[in-house]
Amino acid sequence: MKILVTVKRVIDYNVKVRVKADTASVDLSNVKMSINPFCEIAVEEAVRLKEQGIATEIVVVSVGPSAAQEQLRTALALGADRAILVETGGELSSLAVAKLLKAVVDQEQPQLVILGKQAIDTDNNQTGQMLAALTGFAQGTFASAVAVAGDKLNVTREVDGGLQTVALPLPAIVTTDLRLNEPRYASLPNIMKAKKKPLTVVTPAELGVSTASTLHTLKVEAPATRQAGIRVNSVAELLNCLKNEAQVI
Ligand code: AMP
Repeated sequence: MKILVTVKRVIDYNVKVRVKADTASVDLSNVKMSINPFCEIAVEEAVRLKEQGIATEIVVVSVGPSAAQEQLRTALALGADRAILVETGGELSSLAVAKLLKAVVDQEQPQLVILGKQAIDTDNNQTGQMLAALTGFAQGTFASAVAVAGDKLNVTREVDGGLQTVALPLPAIVTTDLRLNEPRYASLPNIMKAKKKPLTVVTPAELGVSTASTLHTLKVEAPATRQAGIRVNSVAELLNCLKNEAQVI
């Protein structure tokens, strides 16, 4: 089974995001960038399927600037076999990303595509679903367990009411939830080996996809700073504060 895994370069989750003074975007200068955490889970799941002898090849793909090669190299160090960078500049809508990924799916013909459930920078939670619509593949979103059963893929999904298991025909699309697995760290020898693994760079034009976007960010604002909490000494004082200061009861 050939698996395609998508990897997005995002601001590291430990970084406190700063908004630029002109409020046009967030400040990316000298900021640590990493693989989106849900994409790391996607890579880990593919590597586990390869270790079980189910997957034969893992191809990782990223859509973004040349610097995203850094995140692709990390994915190669984690166990992927080959990487593709679709090099783009500027802001892309999820639909534009999904169309580019569809073109890569058409070229690579994977039996399984694993994406993160969402990217932690834009929090869109839609690229996997859009890719499923464009490819016509079955989809299992918010996966907390994935198991191959014959020619089907059983995906346990985290839904509002608990867990739901769906049996998907292949080829299929899976998006990862937090509890699917705990990603490994790349070892130093594997980081060295990853430098020699193949990484191809393609442009949207070469894939025959227009990335003309209808998406335009008007303004970015930091969330309002929260006031510090206070300690109260009695239930009566708590009720008084809730009633007269917070005015919520
Ligand atoms: P989103 O719909 O933007 O929240 O992203 C969901 C998932 O789609 C991410 O976790 C990635 O796996 C994939 N994805 C989104 N944007 C990109 C990108 N520019 N390059 C590679 N994968 C992406």
